Amino acid sequence: MRPTGLLHLGNYLGALQNWVELQDDYDCIYCAVDIHALTTVESQADTNQIQSNIEDMILDWLAAGIDPERSIVFVQSQVPEVMTLHTLLSMVTPLGWLTRVPTFKEKVRQMDETEETVNYGLVGYPVLQTADIILYKADTVPVGRDQVPHIELSREIARRFNNFFGDTFPEPQAKLTESPLLVGLDGQAKMSKSLDNHLDLAATPEDTSKRVLTAFTDPQRTTRNIPGRPEVCNVYSMHQMFSSSTAVSAVYSECTTAARGCVDCKRQLAGSINDFLEPMRDRRKEYESRPGYVREILDEGGKRARAIAAKTIEEVYEKMGLARG
Ligand code: SF4
Repeated sequence: MRPTGLLHLGNYLGALQNWVELQDDYDCIYCAVDIHALTTVESQADTNQIQSNIEDMILDWLAAGIDPERSIVFVQSQVPEVMTLHTLLSMVTPLGWLTRVPTFKEKVRQMDETEETVNYGLVGYPVLQTADIILYKADTVPVGRDQVPHIELSREIARRFNNFFGDTFPEPQAKLTESPLLVGLDGQAKMSKSLDNHLDLAATPEDTSKRVLTAFTDPQRTTRNIPGRPEVCNVYSMHQMFSSSTAVSAVYSECTTAARGCVDCKRQLAGSINDFLEPMRDRRKEYESRPGYVREILDEGGKRARAIAAKTIEEVYEKMGLARG
């Protein structure tokens, strides 16, 4: 996950919740990819926030239930071997594979409009992503449907390396994680920090309630006595995610008969969301009360990751006929 700082409910439902569950069945490796974050920076001012963003994000992971005793949790740049593997994989990756990637084409199009130029790192982004996966010989990657083409590319790069130099890497499989789409408070688009329609996992109950009260509702319900249409109201769809089924049925019938007002409805939703977030907030407080603890977790995770990475690089050097120091 790119270190973007505090995470929101959409990040939790879209990825983190699954990551936490996967810990029961897999040996998991979770990485804050700070080198990937550099593909879009232009000055030191853009990088000043990286360390604090990492810390905020890792705290959210831990609060959500990522267990550093069971899973390896670390920062990408703590393992420089990933950059070595990136360079070596770039020797077996045809350029056409990279320039055909839809997200790359889209980035180029956006940059053309702003007259910026495409940097070399952006073209190689999927190669670095492949290195992130196969450096640890990971066989399974939890992703959303939109990421499947990237995993397919990683499989092709791993396969090509294996064909050239002998069986070395497992071809990683995408593990599709279906998650409900959480629309933001504006009722228009997917919850996202850049659209400021989000609810931070780490926000206080008061702040969460305040923001929920700003949520858009059925636009036709301009006064309290007009019956509402829950099926077009995002507050209702959030009730379906966070409130009990009895509460959801009550919302539906009271909304369609104008027996409840939208403000009360949102207050009730805020209560449900706060109940949902409470265990995470408690865990976050526990981690925050131990200064330096997140650093310790990352140091330990980085060591464990590096031990795996060093072995892979040794094998790759040998297979590619490179000199050891
Ligand atoms: S009462 Fe609730 S579900 Fe109905 S329109 Fe208002 S906020 Fe939406």
